[in-house]
Parts: sequence; C-alpha cells; structure tokens
Amino acid sequence: MTDGIALYLHFPFCKHKCCYCSFVSYAGRESEIPGYIDAMIEELNQRAKGECLSSVFFGGGTPSLILPDQLNRIMNAIRTLFDIAGKKTEVSLEANPGTIDEPYLAAIRQIGINRLSLGVQSLDDKTLVLLGRIHTADKARQAVRFARNSGFDNLSLDLIYGIPGQSLTDWQDTLKESVRLEPEHLSLYPLSLEDDVPLSGAIQNGELPAIDPDCTAEQYEAAEDYLAAEGYRHYEISNWAREDAECRHNTTYWQCEPYLGIGVAAHSYIDSHRQANTHDLDEYIRIYQLRELYQPEMVEEIAPETQLAEAIIMGLRLVKGIEFESMIDRFGIDVTDRYEREMDELIHWGLLESDGRSLRLTRRGRLLGNEVFWRFLPQ
Ligand code: SF4
Repeated sequence: MTDGIALYLHFPFCKHKCCYCSFVSYAGRESEIPGYIDAMIEELNQRAKGECLSSVFFGGGTPSLILPDQLNRIMNAIRTLFDIAGKKTEVSLEANPGTIDEPYLAAIRQIGINRLSLGVQSLDDKTLVLLGRIHTADKARQAVRFARNSGFDNLSLDLIYGIPGQSLTDWQDTLKESVRLEPEHLSLYPLSLEDDVPLSGAIQNGELPAIDPDCTAEQYEAAEDYLAAEGYRHYEISNWAREDAECRHNTTYWQCEPYLGIGVAAHSYIDSHRQANTHDLDEYIRIYQLRELYQPEMVEEIAPETQLAEAIIMGLRLVKGIEFESMIDRFGIDVTDRYEREMDELIHWGLLESDGRSLRLTRRGRLLGNEVFWRFLPQ
C-alpha cells in the first residue's frame, strides 16, 4: 500500500478534438480556462482535508494548455492544503507535443512538475493526420528534446497501436524510434473507438479499413518482446518502465487505493465510496464561482464483495498479479477458496498462472484480459 492518497486534477480543454477521442474534453472553449482554474482552486479548498499526497496528476484534455502562472496558483493551493512537504511526491502532467516549447517546460519544471507524460501516439505523420492530432512526428521528437533540456528526468511517452491500416512494421518503426528517444516510461494503448467518434464513422463508410484484432494482438506481442530486450520492465498490461520509473499515480488505481479527483467529470474513491463530479462544464464553473458547496453528481458505496472483485481485477492488470496473503490481510478472504473453480478453469485455459502465493495473467491472458476479469465479478 502506498502512503497517503493520490490527487487527480482533470483539465478538459483541447485545441482540437482528435478523431478517436471519447474523453471529457472540449475544443474551442479556451476562453473559459481562467474561470475553470478558479473553480478548481475553490474545489480544492472545499475538499482538501490536509491529507498526505502520494502523487499528483494533471490529466485531460490537454493540461499543457495551463499557463505557468495558472499552474503555479494551483500548485501553491495544493502545497497549502495538503501534506507534500519534505517528500519527493510524483507530480505528473500530460502534455501535447503540439502545445509546448522549451520555455514553457522549463517554467513548469520550476513550479514542481517532475514527471511529464507526452501524448506522442505515433512517430508517423500520416498516422498522426489520420488520428486528427495537432502535432507532427518532428514536433514530438522536439518535445522530448525540450523536456530533457528543461531538466525532466522522468519522461513517459504514450503510443497507440491497432490503428486502421497500421501494419506491424509501421508500429515497430514508431516503437523503435520511441525507444531511441530513451524515455523512462512507455504507455502503449490499443486504439479503442466509441461509435460516435469520427474514426468510427470513417470505418463504417468504408473510407478506412476496420481495426484488425489479429494485427493488434501481433503488435502487442511484438512490443512485449522488443521492450523486454531493450531493458524495459513490463509492470502493467499497457505500461513499461525503466528501474524505479513505474507511474506511482496510476499504480494507486491498479491497487484500488484512495484517490481524490478534482475538476469536471473527475472521480474519487475514498473510504469505500466512489464519487463523480458533474460532467457539465458550465455547471462545474458556476457551482464553484458562486462558492456553492460541493455536491457530487454520483455517490456510491462500494460493497465489500465488489471491493474484493475490483482489487482482484485491477491487481491482475499488474504483471506481478495479486498476492493471496495480502488479499487475506485486506479483506479477510482467501481468494483460492472463494474463486477456486474460476481459477482452476482459467489456469487450465492458460490465461492465469499461480505459484501458490500469487496469481497473475499469463502472456496469453494479458491479450485476453476481459475473458479473465468478468469471471471475478460478483454474481
Ligand atoms: S488531445 Fe487527448 S483529450 Fe484532447 S482531443 Fe486529443 S485525445 Fe482527446
């Protein structure tokens, strides 16, 4: 268990909506950013209880649209309201290579951002155009240089595979070049499309080929082999890191530990309760500008049975899996008894493996995680 809680701040503004994006993000509303920053600070004031923070994460949207003095105000509020003094708290910010330059990165590094997650997605210009990204491959390469020159020594690159028309070789070219950029951390995500995004429409109209699941699986396995050979440790289904460079913030989610979410549509998980903030940007800004008291859009108490299931499912996302002893300590339940039948079947099918002390996905299981996870849900 980590010490303290994780703090997530959602910044929902983007310069342009990417063709595959279903995140809560808005293009063309940048004039509302100052009001939104004020609202976030008011929410922090209302909800902070002086907790000790294990990590801070600015996600989006495009948090690299936050100006340095705005970010400074938010960080000052966090330092005043929470306990982060004297510790090397991980403070991450997601940055779009199309929105940053070296002075910007140098300024935010000074303010206390010590981990940068760059949304590179691809190092192929045609693919970036297809995805509707605002940056080019050159901009992404330049962003890495700017980050290093600005003193960032904890850098993560996000990449997408399983893109319509992307061959295994195309993907390997992006991956190999990304490794040559020497990031401490890599997050690799398969393209996943909701029905209402433009890329889905282009596939339905026949303008683009459908996503090929066999090619996507081949790309994932090729990445696993290549990154292992390059010395990256595979620690979560979609994440690889150099020694000691695992993302502490996201590990909070995989270990089902408490987190506080600030901002529109942000979720929190504290004291066995999950809460969601309003999804309505105007409503969010209005509530906090008027200093109305925080009212979550949704509050749900998570039953012990569901907490156990979630701890197993999220824990299995980690390559090391779950330890039976720690599940007994945390929930008073022996997973090997409770899920004996499910475990036997999944081990027999080659999707799970156990050494008697822990349970983890096999390589095949990592490709077919959803086939495993639903078996642990409460009936
Ligand atoms: S930059 Fe990220 S959040 Fe913004 S539109 Fe693109 S994918 Fe969505």
